[in-house]
Amino acid sequence: MRKFDVVVIGAGIGGGSLVYNLLKQGFTGSILVLDQGETVAAGATSHSAGGFRNLYTTSINMQISSMGIKILSRFKEDMGMAIGFQRKGYLFNYYEAEWRQMPKVAEILKANRVNFELFTPAQVEAKIPGLRCSVAEIDPEVREFLGMEPIAGGLFGADCGSFDPSQATVGYFERAMTDFKVKPVLQLNTEVVAVTFDRAGRASGVKMKRAGAEEQVEAGIVALCTGPWTNKLLDNSGIPAEDRMPIISQKRMLFMTDFPDNDPRWQDIPLTSIDQGIFFKFESGSMMVGKARLDAPDSLDTTFEPEYYVNEINLVMQERIPATAKCKLKRGWAHLYDTNTIDHNAIVGWHENHSNLLLQVGYSGHGAQQGPAVGACLAELVITGKYQSIDCSPFRWGRFQENDLVQEAYIL
Ligand SMILES: Cc1cc2nc3c(=O)[nH]c(=O)nc-3n(C[C@H](O)[C@H](O)[C@H](O)COP(=O)(O)OP(=O)(O)OC[C@H]3O[C@@H](n4cnc5c(N)ncnc54)[C@H](O)[C@@H]3O)c2cc1C
Repeated sequence: MRKFDVVVIGAGIGGGSLVYNLLKQGFTGSILVLDQGETVAAGATSHSAGGFRNLYTTSINMQISSMGIKILSRFKEDMGMAIGFQRKGYLFNYYEAEWRQMPKVAEILKANRVNFELFTPAQVEAKIPGLRCSVAEIDPEVREFLGMEPIAGGLFGADCGSFDPSQATVGYFERAMTDFKVKPVLQLNTEVVAVTFDRAGRASGVKMKRAGAEEQVEAGIVALCTGPWTNKLLDNSGIPAEDRMPIISQKRMLFMTDFPDNDPRWQDIPLTSIDQGIFFKFESGSMMVGKARLDAPDSLDTTFEPEYYVNEINLVMQERIPATAKCKLKRGWAHLYDTNTIDHNAIVGWHENHSNLLLQVGYSGHGAQQGPAVGACLAELVITGKYQSIDCSPFRWGRFQENDLVQEAYIL
């Protein structure tokens, strides 16, 4: 039976960052990386919008994001891989009731030295060509039906932006395979059917299937970087229900459309959110648009639904930015969030009831931007027994039992 010191399940940005950082920080044990996909980054990572931001209200999210932005900003230099890193900013817009909370948010951001500005409606309109903060010109019946209110102001973060998470993942694996004495074994097209556990509850290895052939390997540590498939794997592994993750898999879609009036000013817009969580940004000659269906069922279904853009997004968006009425849908895709249903934040670190099971799951839509920093912190935990750069223990699985949650306020 093959035996590895670490078996990493999942070759997305989380797994890639963990493997690269283990080696970079001097880990000399053997590493096996397994993924059911045909390529690295085949899961949520390659379907992400690639947005990053440091606009949060909890200290752990602000710290992890700031570290992540630093890593991403130097990625080309440090890793020899261009990742399309762009800092065009984020602009969150609010109705009056939420806007009244903004002084509190501003205090938190200031205390954490986050670079931000509060925009008046006139500043919001100046930033997004054609956007109307007022609703006075919208037919009152339509306005009521769509539940639209005037935009009272915007929170702008100049250090936020976007990048290509697939390229970053490829960069992590390329460097991991070439730069170090120890070469990790990367095995694609391989489904892990179950993690095996010994009587004391320690992970002893994994059972896997590749092209119909089954194999079992022994492992010193098993790292779950399994995104939306995490609970399916844990169910098959027979661990008690109370030890599983509070995660559901929820469909999320992105839509690529023309940009309004082909106005070249749109190329420089920040990632902007408007009514009902609709967000958009300029991306490769198109406008990328999305809106989370918050009550999407727990399912691994990734069927793309173009009508969602027409009915749930464009109807509202064309009232806010009239020129978007002419924006045609060119293409789009659907993939999955691994939504943590309790506090919507990552679950990271050793599983308290299975001491060598390392978790990096439940990112709830933040994993592309947080995986680079979290992978580095987890490597520290494995090698030195402690977090060194940032104490990620607020993200521990045990917080749910202790009711010591990581709760973001005001900024989704
Ligand atoms: C539409 C959309 C938009 C998003 N936008 C953003 C954004 O703007 N910013 C942001 O930060 N995040 C965003 N995200 C979230 C982000 O993509 C994820 O949080 C991130 O990619 C998680 O990375 P990961 O490596 O943990 O998971 P994944 O990339 O999903 O990787 C998990 C891997 O594990 C493998 N795997 C799972 N189970 C098994 C098994 N049993 N056997 C073998 N292999 C297995 C899968 O094949 C997969 O490759 C978005 C996600 C979606 C769907």
